Amino acid sequence: MEIDINLTKIRNKIGAVEKQFGRENNSVCLIAVSKTRKINEIIQAIDKNQRHFGENYCQEAVEKIKTINRPDIIWHFIGPIQSNKTKQIAHNFNWVHTLDRLKIAQRLNEMRPDHLPPLNICVQVNTSNEVTKSGLSIDKLESFIDSLKEFKRLKVRGLMSLPEIKRDFDEQRESFKELNKVFLRLNKNNAEIDVLSMGTSNDMEAAIAEGATFVRIGTAIFGPRIQ
Ligand SMILES: *Cc1c(COP(=O)(O)O)cnc(C)c1O
Repeated sequence: MEIDINLTKIRNKIGAVEKQFGRENNSVCLIAVSKTRKINEIIQAIDKNQRHFGENYCQEAVEKIKTINRPDIIWHFIGPIQSNKTKQIAHNFNWVHTLDRLKIAQRLNEMRPDHLPPLNICVQVNTSNEVTKSGLSIDKLESFIDSLKEFKRLKVRGLMSLPEIKRDFDEQRESFKELNKVFLRLNKNNAEIDVLSMGTSNDMEAAIAEGATFVRIGTAIFGPRIQ
């Protein structure tokens, strides 16, 4: 029941924030981040018409994806990518949000099965206040995206970031604004990217204000993580 209610609240909130900041209705897509959550919790969200799910840990995720076995669910890999996990990721996910190394791109491209459409890719960007050292710096981004063009089994869709947690709304907006600027600049240069993956339970509103098209929400849907 709780998950049910939380999903309704988040959806309403997204709608309200879209309106508040002059974003088009339904221009923000909700990814339910289900890392560490049990199958029955994910099913509750599916029953409430949630279709996009985000997972961080490959092995845990693949078990869930296989058990749930629903081709209408869109699975997003949002965790750090180890190179020995690229095959599992390429076989089981629809999206990868955390690409920041050419070597990994090469492996994902090689391993993406022919019967599946190209793997959708967001390049992870390290803006000024990132949580981890992962992600490319902005000055390396354009040439990195250029070099992904040779990988025919990957489709570059956009940019992703995970800034450190801040309380203040204006401070939260800063790094999202930085990413949005790069996004617009790349688009001008014909990179044909249409996705900005940014915003979590803590800073979703600021991300939407700055142009997020995917928000990745865990805690606000499923409650605090125990692990
Ligand atoms: C865990 C995680 C989220 C969700 O964070 P919440 O605070 O639970 O909403 C979003 N993005 C990434 C990359 C994560 O690892």
